[in-house]
Amino acid sequence: MLSGNWNPEEVKGWLQAVKDPEIPVLTIQDLGVLRSIEALSDGGIRVTITPTYSGCPAMNTISADIRRLLLSKGIPTVEVIESLSPAWTTDWLSAEAHEKLEAFGIAPPQSGSADKTALFSAAVPVPCPHCKSKKTELVSQFGSTACKALYRCRSCSEPFDYFKCLR
Ligand SMILES: [Zn+2]
Repeated sequence: MLSGNWNPEEVKGWLQAVKDPEIPVLTIQDLGVLRSIEALSDGGIRVTITPTYSGCPAMNTISADIRRLLLSKGIPTVEVIESLSPAWTTDWLSAEAHEKLEAFGIAPPQSGSADKTALFSAAVPVPCPHCKSKKTELVSQFGSTACKALYRCRSCSEPFDYFKCLR
């Protein structure tokens, strides 16, 4: 590939291969983590990502994956920068991401949850991703990772992770 011979749509297509290491069904585009793709003057690419929450260790993996992938496609230089403002929110998750999360057994964040504190008091019912029952209970604020809370379904008694709204 010649330097600078790429277009943003093509690059977005390549970046579909970069997944959240914690939730491998979600691409960084599903997550809303991928913010922009810009050309550098030498034909390279600057990729801007916004971390899902500050200090999320997955971000190091994601930025290394982006760099490795684009270099392997012949991009001469790759810059990955983190943009912290505006802050990522679960509202940036795509509709597809919600479906993928549920299929993966993780309850997606409940929409319309402007009042994020409500999520922690369990005032918003979190439907079970397995049987859709709303009879669920919070077991722990922290699930398999800090980004998720652990719930249990009282209908099918399966435990599940809830992708909580937090950064
Ligand atoms: Zn259930």
